[in-house]
Amino acid sequence: DAEVVLVGRSNVGKSTLMREITGHTFDTGQRPGVTRSPNHFDWASADFVISDLPGFGYMKGVPEDVREEIKTDVVQYVERNAEHILVGILVVDGKSVIDIIDRHSGPDEIPHDVEMFHFLREVGVEPVVAVNKMDKVDDKDDRLNELCDRLGLHPPWQQWQETIAPISAKRGSVEPLNEAVRHHLHEAQRDDL
Ligand code: GDP
Repeated sequence: DAEVVLVGRSNVGKSTLMREITGHTFDTGQRPGVTRSPNHFDWASADFVISDLPGFGYMKGVPEDVREEIKTDVVQYVERNAEHILVGILVVDGKSVIDIIDRHSGPDEIPHDVEMFHFLREVGVEPVVAVNKMDKVDDKDDRLNELCDRLGLHPPWQQWQETIAPISAKRGSVEPLNEAVRHHLHEAQRDDL
């Protein structure tokens, strides 16, 4: 069975997006690190399962070693299942992603989001970056171009619509993400012929 995974730092809106995609309600008030196993659901009208993996990165009240463990779990899950994972949706917060990436970029530090993007590619999973909370972003094109730059994709972002999907999960505007995922689904089906 084809699978789509949702990864991202905590608080970027993964649960909100899952609710929007699947129509199910999830308990967003759960204690971080408690729900550590992937949840499987059918995406609205497509025939693959979608797994919401635990959020990684900073979480209030969660110790560093537990956070590391969660990230390792996510990475191992993706590695183990890479064969049938079609798309890895990396959810980021459009409002803060550039600041967070730049704050954590250094000679021996790679920001989680950048690392995850390259990791997905390395294991052969097509990454789609769902740039969420775009309703809070004014300079939309500038922000998306900066994100391309940080991920090593040549701007303008419009050239990367299969990879960069600006959305607002809370407002229910996720069409660019549906489009991007559909694109990869069709590519994969063509490869199977
Ligand atoms: P998770 O930790 O990644 O699962 O994030 P949640 O889905 O719990 O969302 C974290 C916070 O971001 C909540 O307060 C959401 O209401 C808010 N949020 C989620 N999506 C959006 C969005 O598209 N726009 C805005 N403005 N807020 C959002």
